[in-house]
Amino acid sequence: MQSVTKLRLYASPEDRKKLFATMERYNAACAFVSPVAFFEKQFSTIGLQKRMYSTVREQFGLSAQMAQLAIRKVAGSYRSTIEAIKAKNKILRALGKPLQVLSEISFCEHGAICYDARVLSLGKNRASIWTLDGRIKLRYARPDYFPPVAAVKQTDLVYRDGAFWLYATVKSPDREIPEPAEYLGVDLGVVTIATTSDGTVYSSAATERVRKRYGNLRAALQQKGTKDAKEKLRKISGRERRFKTDVNHVISKQVVRAAEGTKRGVALEDLTGILQRTTVTKQNRERHHTWAFFQLRTFIAYKARKLGVLLKVINGSYTSQQCSVCGHTDPGNRSDQATFRCLQCGHAENADLNAAKNIAVRAAVNRPIAVCSRPGERLNRKPVKSMEPITAPCPRL
Ligand SMILES: [Zn+2]
Repeated sequence: MQSVTKLRLYASPEDRKKLFATMERYNAACAFVSPVAFFEKQFSTIGLQKRMYSTVREQFGLSAQMAQLAIRKVAGSYRSTIEAIKAKNKILRALGKPLQVLSEISFCEHGAICYDARVLSLGKNRASIWTLDGRIKLRYARPDYFPPVAAVKQTDLVYRDGAFWLYATVKSPDREIPEPAEYLGVDLGVVTIATTSDGTVYSSAATERVRKRYGNLRAALQQKGTKDAKEKLRKISGRERRFKTDVNHVISKQVVRAAEGTKRGVALEDLTGILQRTTVTKQNRERHHTWAFFQLRTFIAYKARKLGVLLKVINGSYTSQQCSVCGHTDPGNRSDQATFRCLQCGHAENADLNAAKNIAVRAAVNRPIAVCSRPGERLNRKPVKSMEPITAPCPRL
């Protein structure tokens, strides 16, 4: 698996100037290539190299490698953005909301430079970095846990909070994770963010409060419409996003830790189950944040891999209509959004908890259980897909 380690870089005022100049030239090249890629729909690195390489070298005075890297960053940014939009649109389509479309990507002047080993090499305590003024050697703070530099796959130069950083992507060998006997089922929901088969509920009450507070503030600012108000609007949207991200970090960590501590795997459902359930009320539609699903799923997958916890994604068909005790599946088992009551055996409990238990059981039997809600109705038994976290090739800040 891959992980990113941030290394603080120490640069003299003189070297900072060189780094800034290189960063600005590189990003200017990216900004120059971006509209061409967008309007000609050329998102393959090789295709874009063919089209733009000599122009970029001539116009921006970059070395051969740096010109290639700039073009690669543009192509990679488009490809990862397209992937993310595709995934988001799956949900938006099911919710009947307008779909997101690709727009031209802009590159700011101090965006990250995605270096490779030919233009940036890491030594024991020093990094040798290509700049427009030739190579410079800079000291960097190296944490104890940092692996041998040979394990570093790619290094990005990032300017953040007034300092330069190296974001080193380290590849560590994939551990073979043994199949656990049991799984912790996790139901990612609409009203509650997540419910585990152990009965732990992560309610959206706190995030809802924050959302409402920001919602009111936003409405007031939008009405004002002044330049000052617009600036404030931009700030609060960033604050709200960071709050939500923090919440997802906390939840995903607790979920994966709970599984790790009990030597279980983590089971999630694929999108089938979620989509079957999200055709609910208008209020739910408003509350339904696509970010919650994607970001939380991505975080859980990433943290599970990091801690060596097996993650299984199961077919989510009818997880919310099936009884976790007797297996009877019927839409009538759901008397309302929150409660599950089995028409066959009378088992009653919180609907999300019942679904989470089904998810745990389906993962443990290693294949989706075939359930027929009506005579003659078959479930599609698609192979279970594993989930990859969405990672951009180059973090944009
Ligand atoms: Zn039952």
